[in-house]
Amino acid sequence: MSIFGKLPGCRQLSSAKERKAAVLPIIKEQQGWDYIEYEGKKGWASAKYIDINNKNGDSQQNQTNGTTVAVNLRLRALPNLQSNVLNLLPYNSKVTILSSQSGWYYVKTAQGQKGWLSAQFVKVSQVREAQAKGEAVQNSKKSTQDDSGTEAVLTGGGVNLREAPGLSAAVIGEGEKGSRFTYLGRQGTWIHVQQANGKQAWIAADYVSVTKKNSAKSAATEDRHLKPGLKGKTIVIDPGHGGKDDGTTGPGDHMEKTNTLSTALIVKQKLEESGVHVVMTRTSDRFIPLSDRTRISNSDDADAYISIHFNSESTGTSKGIMSFYYQQQKDKQLANSVQSSVIKETGLTNRGVHFGNLFVLRNNNQPCMLIELGFLSNKQEEKMVMTKAYQENAAEGIVNGLKEYFGG
Ligand SMILES: [Zn+2]
Repeated sequence: MSIFGKLPGCRQLSSAKERKAAVLPIIKEQQGWDYIEYEGKKGWASAKYIDINNKNGDSQQNQTNGTTVAVNLRLRALPNLQSNVLNLLPYNSKVTILSSQSGWYYVKTAQGQKGWLSAQFVKVSQVREAQAKGEAVQNSKKSTQDDSGTEAVLTGGGVNLREAPGLSAAVIGEGEKGSRFTYLGRQGTWIHVQQANGKQAWIAADYVSVTKKNSAKSAATEDRHLKPGLKGKTIVIDPGHGGKDDGTTGPGDHMEKTNTLSTALIVKQKLEESGVHVVMTRTSDRFIPLSDRTRISNSDDADAYISIHFNSESTGTSKGIMSFYYQQQKDKQLANSVQSSVIKETGLTNRGVHFGNLFVLRNNNQPCMLIELGFLSNKQEEKMVMTKAYQENAAEGIVNGLKEYFGG
């Protein structure tokens, strides 16, 4: 039984047993495929079935371990503050440091999730002897002592990234002019770098400018996320609908878009009184596309995003408040906290916190939630939720929920 196809894309390792058993030297890689050697034959196998170990076979030997020293430390998809938040790690989480780049560590969590952490909030707890090729590990040690990293910036376009120094080495990628890499070292006329995905490469020195990069700003912004308390946080408040989009309309002709805005403006005022930097997706009766709402949240690297809505259903009998989250690890704690606090302040029926595959949550990098503050389709509830008194209570609930979420 052959485990190979002739070209990438043809076949994968054929059984789980084979996948487990085989130790395969990887010759080269191409877009999710590894070119491997197995029982004397060479061929392509899907990289997702292959665990990459370092060559001396004992990964423990060269492992750097770390412990998070912040509450809710953001595990990100890429080493920058605009990047997706994959998870919020509790204080004292154990991680394995796989590589580093300008003040960031690429880590694997105890649950096996991989991502980037701001290095200043990770205590390196164990550094074993780095192997000859372990510059990445040495580099990660360096960046705990020094906030700045050294960067290699490409001065030309279409530059080959090679797997070893020398023109005969395999080309593993191509770099655009201005592309940035972590500088690992130099060998003759070749510069050794690390890419954002953690993989290493070699570039001809003629096309590279090596510079010091200061990551003090990124550390300061990450610091804002981690400091306990509502004060100083950036929170995006998104009043649902607006302009040509009325949202739902109750039997008494009250429109959702009007009530989401009036409630959101009360939330804004209360948050500002607590020292929060509030970003509104709209402050008037204006149509804002959903993509703009998430772009606002992402570009400000907000600490939290709350979209405010009112509910509707056809029988007119449903009532109560419900909240939605998208990513359990990133969003659910925020949704739980705000939902229970709003129920406490308003006394309305608690319809709970639910998973919602909603655009503004799905495309949001920040911890985010959407709350439906009652049913406009229910005649009695419509009358209540449109009042200033109700919206004051709901806003108070949202602010208290955020306070609880941020720890005071
Ligand atoms: Zn709505």
